[in-house]
Amino acid sequence: MIELVGNMHLHTVYSDGTATHCQVAQAAARAGLDWVIVTDHNIWVKGVAGYYDNLLLLVGEEIHDCRRVPQANHLLVYGADCELAPLAPSPQAVIDAANERGALTFLAHPVEYTSRLANEDALGWINLEVTGYTGVEIWNYMSEFKARIPTVLHALAYAYLPTAGIRGPFPAALELWDQLSAGGRRVVGIGGADAHGSTYSLGPLRRTIFPYEYLFSAVNTHILLENPLTGDMTADRAMIFDALRGGCAWVGCDVLGSTCGFWFEARSGLESATLGGEVSRAGAVTLEVSTPLRGDIQIVGNGRVVARASGRACRQLITEAGAYRAQVYRGGKGWIFSNPIFVR
Ligand SMILES: [Zn+2]
Ligand SMILES: [Zn+2]
Repeated sequence: MIELVGNMHLHTVYSDGTATHCQVAQAAARAGLDWVIVTDHNIWVKGVAGYYDNLLLLVGEEIHDCRRVPQANHLLVYGADCELAPLAPSPQAVIDAANERGALTFLAHPVEYTSRLANEDALGWINLEVTGYTGVEIWNYMSEFKARIPTVLHALAYAYLPTAGIRGPFPAALELWDQLSAGGRRVVGIGGADAHGSTYSLGPLRRTIFPYEYLFSAVNTHILLENPLTGDMTADRAMIFDALRGGCAWVGCDVLGSTCGFWFEARSGLESATLGGEVSRAGAVTLEVSTPLRGDIQIVGNGRVVARASGRACRQLITEAGAYRAQVYRGGKGWIFSNPIFVR
């Protein structure tokens, strides 16, 4: 299969980011990404999507109700091709309208903690009773960073040692994902930068935390396609959205070591499946994970760890039905979080 790396949560000057679409595309290309999706707050920007050299830039939106107190429920929408922000007071109405248009929706940073650094309340999800969405953002780089860093001074220091400020998805976010996926419900996990290119300053110290290019080398979403991209934006967009909708994807923190080449497979009799796929139980099912570099590999089945191995591979026979996903830590930090394979 063809692997493509992208980032699907970032802001431009159309909301609170500091780069234009063209600058975002350039930064993404320098970071080695294949595609990005811009998600400005409550504005769908028309006429800028397309190929910028070899980088495919698509335009989605991050929708939330600006008048809500407290702020919460940020929803990422991809492929609606129209402005849905007027529906923001009802997240369910946004999801329903997006579904009618064949678009994808993800609960952005569903678990958040108050940030002393950004002087922001937690912007997680309160109205978790919504239904019909595609998935959840299990790891948001800037959301994690803001929660873990107490002051601007710490932030400025970490600008020189960026990975020191991150550890991985919040355990509560993974727990929520497993709960939402229970009972065979398909909830696709994605990761994103939430890049803004904001500058923080303290007296004479002034530093961008973090530049777009750095963030595009950190928490990305990798997808697998059956065929290579064609160079036609409409066709390629459909292929990328199909892979995301089907959960044929993993979240990789590539700054800890490229996650390209990661593989997770289930085999049962003559059947086999990878991320987002399913196999039926013809006796025992073999699950096999392989990673491009050494790590602490875990296979999580129905929310609990069913196998562990240190190295570049992990293999496990299972007999129970359910959703099985892989997670890999490297040096104690989150590195790879795959979407599940479903065993019937
Ligand atoms: Zn947000
Ligand atoms: Zn955002």
